[in-house]
Amino acid sequence: MFADRAKILIRSGKGGDGHVSFRRELYVPNGGPDGGDGGRGGDVIFEVDEGLNTLYEYRHKRKFKAQDGEEGGKRRCHGKDGSDIILKVPEGTIIREAESGKVIADMSGENRRQVILQGGRGGAGNMHFATSTMQVPKYAQPGVPAQELEVLLELKVIADVGLVGFPNVGKSTFLSRVTNAQPKIANYHFTTLNPNLGVVDLNGAPGFVIADIPGLIEGASEGVGLGHEFLRHIERTRVLIHIVDAASTEGRDPVADIYAINKELEAYNEEIAARPQVIAANKIDALGDNEEPIQRLKDEFEPKGIKVFPISAVAGKGLKELLYYVRELLDQAPQEAIVFEQEYFPGEELVYENLPYTVTKSEEEEGVFIVEGPRIEKMLGYTNLDSEKGFAFFQNFLKNTGILKELEEAGIQEGDTVRMYGLAFDYFH
Ligand code: GDP
Ligand code: MG
Repeated sequence: MFADRAKILIRSGKGGDGHVSFRRELYVPNGGPDGGDGGRGGDVIFEVDEGLNTLYEYRHKRKFKAQDGEEGGKRRCHGKDGSDIILKVPEGTIIREAESGKVIADMSGENRRQVILQGGRGGAGNMHFATSTMQVPKYAQPGVPAQELEVLLELKVIADVGLVGFPNVGKSTFLSRVTNAQPKIANYHFTTLNPNLGVVDLNGAPGFVIADIPGLIEGASEGVGLGHEFLRHIERTRVLIHIVDAASTEGRDPVADIYAINKELEAYNEEIAARPQVIAANKIDALGDNEEPIQRLKDEFEPKGIKVFPISAVAGKGLKELLYYVRELLDQAPQEAIVFEQEYFPGEELVYENLPYTVTKSEEEEGVFIVEGPRIEKMLGYTNLDSEKGFAFFQNFLKNTGILKELEEAGIQEGDTVRMYGLAFDYFH
């Protein structure tokens, strides 16, 4: 089976929690805090593997998890870091956030390795929280939670040339004729929906790869929405060949077909629609002496810069001229690989999601603001605000989570009171 798409769940390692312990020495009743730091959680890393051509492996196993960091130990022992997980993918794999479809990484070109989810930092052990006023800190910092994300892996077919056209115009026949590919040729509208790739060998000029995108118009024209599903395969092609049935053997109008396909392409991605095109007016063997359909195509499209080549895929006529012209178009087209920009940044979104809280202005009391949220409650359980370090840590927490900013936006004034879970403190800027 051709596996060019897979949805998987990835999870980084959680940071190990900081440890709470106290030194025990002979004849010393109350030793100082010696709880060590938690280890770092493992990252989820994607790596290009030249030996892979499909995403087949990801169809079987669907959950991938890096190792959690270990908790810190007594006697200042640092918890062991969790190991990373490395996921091997073929070159040209696009990693997207599954829900939004936004690109996280494009594993092609220079990009051979990318950390997609970072492991959580380990928490600081209680050995860090001793101060002159707080000598027995019974709290430590928890490790940063794991990140979990559903991602969509898509393998882009990296073809130079895309073959587009309605069903039964002769795409598969053409591909089998000019390349080494052996696609199914059939007189029915639902052939395989996987793209067929073939390599064209040219005498005296570099060859190129052609992709026949069978699902393109079948789905789109029926409003099934399948079309766009397959359009992604031609995102990286640099030249498009329109194949039309110039003899209208099934009653199709070749001119209308080209307009319909270009409209579809434009709706999907204007950049693709703007790439160089050429028209292969197929089935001329069925035209006999009738030159009118070819002339009509030329009159319509050549003034727009789209050349028309009369061919017969079945009889092998006119193919060379077409292929050498395509080679010329490729030579003129920009060479640089099309690389997808990152649109989704896992860390950022997740930190935000993991820290739900609300900031409200009290309706009963003047100058009082209330902050609530599950993580904050947990934080307050761990943090001793009587210690200098604990309080500094807490202040940083307010700043990093954005709570401070929200308080300011809510209109907090110097000397106002902030309440959180039975705790109250005054706001000073
Ligand atoms: P696709 O759906 O576009 O891939 O079209 P196919 O390659 O499967 O061809 C559909 C039908 O058109 C088949 O019966 C082919 O034999 C026929 N066909 C393809 N090319 C030619 C051609 O150049 N001349 C004629 N007369 N028939 C053709
Ligand atoms: Mg076909």
